[in-house]
Amino acid sequence: MVGQAYTLLISDLHLHATRPHTTRLLLDFLATTARGAQALYVLGDLFEYWLGDDDLADPHHQSVADALRALSQSGTAVYLMHGNRDLLLGREFCERSGAILLQDPYEANLHGWRVLLSHADALCTDDLAYQQFRRKVRNPLCQGFFLILPMNLRRTIVRGFRRQSETEKSAKPAYIMDVNPQAVAELLRSYNYPDLFIHGHTHRPAEHSIELDGHHCARWVLGDWGARGDYLRLDADGCSRHTVFGAET
Ligand code: MN
Repeated sequence: MVGQAYTLLISDLHLHATRPHTTRLLLDFLATTARGAQALYVLGDLFEYWLGDDDLADPHHQSVADALRALSQSGTAVYLMHGNRDLLLGREFCERSGAILLQDPYEANLHGWRVLLSHADALCTDDLAYQQFRRKVRNPLCQGFFLILPMNLRRTIVRGFRRQSETEKSAKPAYIMDVNPQAVAELLRSYNYPDLFIHGHTHRPAEHSIELDGHHCARWVLGDWGARGDYLRLDADGCSRHTVFGAET
């Protein structure tokens, strides 16, 4: 008998060659749990940073792209959204991995639910400095200029940004780095009150129940992967949270 159709969602893996444990968790997940899903959505920050698709020469990056390709070839569609860390993932990565790049936000009808998907860094509107930075790095001219720099220089620049961001983060109050409730409400209104809003970025896994203008919406926040590996499973019955070890939280 064919089981119930379902979709899996993950985000914020922050893969990096210096954290092989997380990459192994993902490769295992892609080869086992994810097989049989109708689709896998990666809602941003798959990689700790992405310097450009020419960085696919890196064996660590290749192993991730090839594992995604194997999943997509097994019949599970793989969808990818940019995070703030890997917003330069481009056409070559998608060709190599078989992943389909989605706009942020992205509206989907999944198993009878109206679902809105986002990375959600754009909703952290209290962090004015970050939003200003975000506009710059999303500027196509800035991106084009960055991508023609030698790889080593790109790496140095990104590490500089990271260091600066870590320093600033420690000085910012916690609410500033969460999504702004007003920005969430405006987004939900503009998408005509979806049943579910699923996003990552904040690393604050939770389910929030939102009542807005007489409508109900569940906001599910994905967790980062770190040592454990959080994922959401969505089917006709609704959304549930799991870890790659199978324990439900
Ligand atoms: Mn992020």
